[in-house]
Amino acid sequence: MKFIIVTGGVMSGLGKGITTSSIGVLLKSKGLKVVPIKIDPYLNVDAGTMNPYQHGEVFVLDDGAEADLDLGNYERFLDVNLTGDNNITTGKIYRAVIEKERNGDYLGKTVQIIPHVTDEIKDWMRRVGQREGADIVLVEVGGTVGDIEGMPFLEAMRQLAMEIGRENVLFVHTTLVPMLGTVGEQKTKPTQQSVRELRSIGIQPSAIVARGDEPLHPDIRKKIAFFCDVPVEGVVSAPNAPTIYDVPILLDEQKLTDYIMKKLELEAKKEDLEDWRDYLDRLRDPERECTIALVGKYTHLRDSYLSHIEAFHHASAATRCRVHIRWVESVDIEKKGAEPLLRGAEGILVPGGFGDRGIEGKIAAIEYARENEIPFQGVCLGFQLGTVEFSRHVLGLEDANSSEFNPKSPHPVVDLLPEQRSVKGMGATMRLGAHEVTLEPECATAKLYGDTTIYERHRHRYEINPAYLEKIEAAGLKYVGRSDDGRRMEVLELQGHPYFIASQFHPELRSRPLRPSPIHLGLTRAAAKFAG
Ligand code: GLN
Repeated sequence: MKFIIVTGGVMSGLGKGITTSSIGVLLKSKGLKVVPIKIDPYLNVDAGTMNPYQHGEVFVLDDGAEADLDLGNYERFLDVNLTGDNNITTGKIYRAVIEKERNGDYLGKTVQIIPHVTDEIKDWMRRVGQREGADIVLVEVGGTVGDIEGMPFLEAMRQLAMEIGRENVLFVHTTLVPMLGTVGEQKTKPTQQSVRELRSIGIQPSAIVARGDEPLHPDIRKKIAFFCDVPVEGVVSAPNAPTIYDVPILLDEQKLTDYIMKKLELEAKKEDLEDWRDYLDRLRDPERECTIALVGKYTHLRDSYLSHIEAFHHASAATRCRVHIRWVESVDIEKKGAEPLLRGAEGILVPGGFGDRGIEGKIAAIEYARENEIPFQGVCLGFQLGTVEFSRHVLGLEDANSSEFNPKSPHPVVDLLPEQRSVKGMGATMRLGAHEVTLEPECATAKLYGDTTIYERHRHRYEINPAYLEKIEAAGLKYVGRSDDGRRMEVLELQGHPYFIASQFHPELRSRPLRPSPIHLGLTRAAAKFAG
C-alpha cells in the first residue's frame, strides 16, 4: 500500500480537492485501487453542524456521515461510495484518543500530540486503506501549510514517510503562481516560500501543482523546479480550466501520471481514460441550451449547492443540452416578486435548506412554477415547501406551514419526525444517509429511475404530516414514493403538470458523470423541451 499526500500552500481555495480527485482518476485509469481520504483539521467532529456559508455544502454519504464537500468530488471523479471514515477531522482524532485514555489504553503514560495523536492519524489512514484493499491511499490535507491546526497531521505524514520509506509515500504540493503587473510576469516567490515552510517541518514535495490564470511559462517551471528542489517533470501547471472535469486530462498531458507511477514504482494494469474523454466531449459540445433557476438562500456562495451544479453537468452531458444555472436569492423574490426574477427560466429548482430566512420567496417560486407549468424540481426543503404551497393555494388552508418555521401554524402540513421529538443534540441526529424508497410502478419518477426500489441519501428532521395526506392527494398532488412501509412520504408528483417532481431525499448526492441523478436529468429534458 502506497500513500500520496496532497498539501496546499499560499492560500485556500486553489482547488486542492479537484487536484486530488484528478490524481485519483488518473491512477484509477491505470487499473489501481485508489482510496481517498480528506483531512479537515478543524475541531468539529463532522461538517454536519457547520453553516454552508463557511465551507460550502455538507455532503452526506450512504452511511449517513455528514462530510466535507470534497468527499463529493472524490465520489463523482472516482465513481465510488465512501464512508465517514474517509473524512478525518481533528475532532474525530481527539475523540478517539480521549476515549482510549479514559479506557486506560495508555495506562501510566502521559498522552501527547506526538506520538499518541500522530499515531492515531497514521493508524486511521492505514486501517481505511487496508479495509478497502487500496493500492494507493490518496490523502488530502485540508487547510494551508503553516496553519497551527494542520501541524499534527503534517507531522504524522512526515513520520509515515520515515517509517515506510520515501519510495512508498509521495508528497504533492499545490500552490499559487500569481501574475502581476501589465507585463504579466508569473511570480514564483509564494511557491518558494510555502515549499520552504513544508521543508522546515521535514517534508520535501516530489511534485508541485501550480495554479494560476494562465499556463506556467517554461522558464518559470524550471525556476520553480530549481528553487524547490523538484525535478522539472514534477512541476505541473494547472491553469483555469473550462470545467473541473478537464483537470485530469490537463494533468495527464503534462505526464504527471507517468511521473507519479515512476516515483512510486507502480505498474499500470490497464490504460483507460476513454470514458472520461467521451464524457468531456459530450459536455464541451452541446446541441442545445436551457436555463434553470436555482432558488436558494446561500446563492452567494455557489459551493453551497455544489452537488446540484455537478448533477446538472452530468445531465448536460447526457442530454447534450447545456444547463445554465440562474442564481436566484429567495429573499429577492420576497422583495420583487417571482415574475421578474424567474421570467424566461425553463426550469426551476428549489433545493434543501434550514431556517426560515427566504422561505416565503421559495414558496412564491413554487407557485410560479406550478401556475405557469414551468418544469419544477424540489429537493428536501423544496419538497416540503411544495406541499406547503399546494396546501395554502390549492386546498385553501390558510397559514399552512412546516412547524420548523411556524410552530403555531393551524395546519402543520410538514412536521417534526416522531423520532425527533426526544432528540436534544444537534450533531449527527437528523434522519441521515441512504434509505430505501418504494415508487409506484406507473409514476414518472419510476420511469426516470427505471426501477421501483431505489436508494437515495437523506438529511432532514421534518417530514410530510400524514394527517393531511388524503386531502392533498385528492386534489391532485400525489405521493408516489414512500419509505418505511409506506409511512414516510418521499416523492411527490403534481398530476397534469408537465414536470413537477420533488423528493424528500437528495438525488444530487449520488449523481455521477456517467449516471446522472434521474430527477435532475428529467428536469433538464423537460426544460429543454420547454425551451423549444
Ligand atoms: N429543514 C428541513 C428539515 O430538517 C429540510 C432539510 C433539508 O432541506 N436538507 O427537514
